[in-house]
Amino acid sequence: MQLPIWMPGLGHVNTYGLLDDNGLAVVDPGLPGPSSWKALKQRLKQAGFGVQDIHTVIVTHSHPDHFGGAGRIKKEAGANLVAHRAFTTWSLEETNRRNHLPTEEEQAEAERIAAAAAQALDIGGEEIPTIADHTDDYEGDPLRDNPTTETQAQSVPWGGETPWGGTKHPIPKLTRRMKIRAMRMLFRPPNPSQRVVHGERIQLAGREWVSIHTPGHTVDHLCLYDPEHGLLLSGDHVLPSITPHISGVGNGADALRSYLQTLDLVAALDGVKLGLPAHGHPFDDVPGRVDAIKEHHEERMLFIRDASNAIGPATVQDISHEIFPKKHWGVMAESETFAHLEHMVLAGDAERWEATDGTLMYRAAPAA
Ligand SMILES: [Zn+2]
Ligand SMILES: [Zn+2]
Repeated sequence: MQLPIWMPGLGHVNTYGLLDDNGLAVVDPGLPGPSSWKALKQRLKQAGFGVQDIHTVIVTHSHPDHFGGAGRIKKEAGANLVAHRAFTTWSLEETNRRNHLPTEEEQAEAERIAAAAAQALDIGGEEIPTIADHTDDYEGDPLRDNPTTETQAQSVPWGGETPWGGTKHPIPKLTRRMKIRAMRMLFRPPNPSQRVVHGERIQLAGREWVSIHTPGHTVDHLCLYDPEHGLLLSGDHVLPSITPHISGVGNGADALRSYLQTLDLVAALDGVKLGLPAHGHPFDDVPGRVDAIKEHHEERMLFIRDASNAIGPATVQDISHEIFPKKHWGVMAESETFAHLEHMVLAGDAERWEATDGTLMYRAAPAA
């Protein structure tokens, strides 16, 4: 069931419905807010179901286009909410501060404000287009860096300094508070009722699914694998036509390494015939797509190496300006550059040091 995304970018997220004798399990039920909820109800109705038929909701990772509708389904249908053990939830303090659930009108207003803010910031979701890959399919990830989540304590607050000393996380000044409030209301991740670990088995749709923990795009990313029928619900881990965004912030010491390793992990799964992604069409060659994505990251690192060799010691921001077209400069491009540079440092392909003002400086090793 394709649901619309009102943030700029991909235009849709795929919600999957898995049917069994008890009703329906849904995977990644779209963005928070009334428009996506309405679309979800329409899609369900077209298939002859209602929200009440949903007994399970699975969230592949802690991005709003995936968890948005999950809390409401859990509440309205009494559904079991399944996510990986590392799934980000809000701190107790935040929960206490906001102990009332927003009304329908508050949510609609919040959605309008958040959409306008996302538009202004050009943020939305999964990928930063590269020079080689000019596409307007650009999405950012608006609240992945929200400072009030427990597992994202290291990440960049709105308007805060980035760890590499580059761009401030941008927020338009005028209605700043209103926007933060709207975003917080909408993008509060739900509390899972069941947290699974790697290798754990779940019965859904008359099949047995194996949980595959795939950190990289986020630390809590979860794929579901049905070995008997060769299906892989790949979330944002493997997408057929775009490269998932890998942020170097709040995402482990070497997010790119985790990502590349878990790409290999899913490529090696036995007999996968069909990948079911969260964005784009189902695709049949999961290992082939994994190879292409890995190649993309190899190319990006060569690109960074050449840029670094050309300009000498440089900040994350400087290097991101060398490797991204100007229209994509900013915190998203920098966080991906940061992830690549940190990966190169840990692999011994670059060095990092702190300038006197604390800004991180990088220099790649010369080409062999
Ligand atoms: Zn995502
Ligand atoms: Zn996504």
